[in-house]
Amino acid sequence: MTERTLLIVDDSPSVRQLVKDSVTEAGLFSNVLEAKDGMEALKLFFSNKIDFVITDVMMPKVDGYKFISTIKDSEAGRNISVIMLSASRKEVVDKIKGLKIGASDYVIKPFDSSELLARINVFLKIQELQNELKEKNVLLEKLSITDELTGLYNRRYFYNHINMHVALAKRHKYSIGCLLIDIDHFKNINDAYGHDMGDKALKEVAHIMAKKIRDGEVLARFGGEEFIICLCRADIDGAIAAAERMRKAVAEANFSDTADNPLKVTISIGVAIYPQDGLTNSDDIIKAADEALYLAKRTGRNKTAVYSESIALPKNEGGGALR
Ligand code: GH3
Ligand code: MG
Ligand code: MG
Repeated sequence: MTERTLLIVDDSPSVRQLVKDSVTEAGLFSNVLEAKDGMEALKLFFSNKIDFVITDVMMPKVDGYKFISTIKDSEAGRNISVIMLSASRKEVVDKIKGLKIGASDYVIKPFDSSELLARINVFLKIQELQNELKEKNVLLEKLSITDELTGLYNRRYFYNHINMHVALAKRHKYSIGCLLIDIDHFKNINDAYGHDMGDKALKEVAHIMAKKIRDGEVLARFGGEEFIICLCRADIDGAIAAAERMRKAVAEANFSDTADNPLKVTISIGVAIYPQDGLTNSDDIIKAADEALYLAKRTGRNKTAVYSESIALPKNEGGGALR
């Protein structure tokens, strides 16, 4: 049976017993709690994980309306189904009042237990569907920010992240580092060992780097065989140290399944620090890291290079000429 707790609230012990017998026989709840008035019900509600409430309306101390509106105002009670039981003759008015404050349904006493069960089942089904929807939304949200192959954050997530940190760095006057990472001669790995082995190497590089980043740092797959990291509150020395940690860890790893025939993979890293003259937004910072990466590639690969204005390419000319 699904783990589910029902709270029955009624000042009449015989009504509570009747409801309890009906739901127990139908096997709808694994646990049933009882309260004889709204005050006792509130105490039970906020000290247990309740999944469903059936409550009388006219009760001493705290009545059903007060009880329902209190739990409906709380985080725990917002999505809980509540069925009201009442013998009131002002039926229409009471129904509307109950539904307005958040009750799901209303049953008039004396009630037919099969009708009560049918109504409970409707709301349990709705709850089940809502939970499924919630889980799917969580999964969708995760998929929308995840790179499928490596399981790292994707480019879209990274942009949101770095944009937020650039804004914070501006306001609070601290610096951030951006590391753009590219696997060296990756095309050769694909050509020599096949695309599947290339994919495996990509995943392995991602895994090695993910183990080296610190809490709060975001590593994302930026594109094909490129990765990117945003280091919050990092100065130039800290950023270089982080980059070298990544580079060495990848260079030391063996990407083949055998020790006798090791497969080596290396990465090159471009580092840019913000704030810096000429860099005003995340695009500038990433472009600066890309220029540093280009320098690392040009000067031998398996290297970390740092962006400074002196390596900036002439605007709109490209081509990689160093100033
Ligand atoms: P460099 O050192 O200059 O970066 O050389 P490179 O060979 O790494 O760079 P290039 O840009 O010439 O080639 C990148 C290769 O990465 C080409 C592309 O097929 C491969 N690639 C991109 N994405 C994937 C992927 O998801 N899986 C695999 N297996 N290969 C990929
Ligand atoms: Mg490459
Ligand atoms: Mg590349």
